[in-house]
Amino acid sequence: MSRKPDIRLLAVSEWISETRAGGRCECDGLCGRTHNRLFTDIRCPNRLGHNTVEGGTGTVALIVDRVDEFAGDTDTNLIALCQHCSKRHRNNLAQAAAKRAEQLSIEAQHNPLF
Ligand SMILES: [Zn+2]
Ligand SMILES: [Zn+2]
Repeated sequence: MSRKPDIRLLAVSEWISETRAGGRCECDGLCGRTHNRLFTDIRCPNRLGHNTVEGGTGTVALIVDRVDEFAGDTDTNLIALCQHCSKRHRNNLAQAAAKRAEQLSIEAQHNPLF
């Protein structure tokens, strides 16, 4: 059985990057970087299809990511991020997950079953 693409999620993602975000990265520090050093608002200045202003080089692409990876694909938990913020955000999530796993294995060692 082939899985059908999630039309609703695609539509929501499109609405988020085009309408809500207006083609601009919605990161306001989620990735761990402060974006307001040079600009008056706190959002990342990277815009879809333009050259990267912050975080790297190349043309900006927008990726719709989950803010909280364990929460659902609701519009409040989804955020349009440029590839640079997305990469940092995902790294942060991966690091947090690794830390949690490490914590669990330490706890498991301290609580032997036998
Ligand atoms: Zn960004
Ligand atoms: Zn960011």
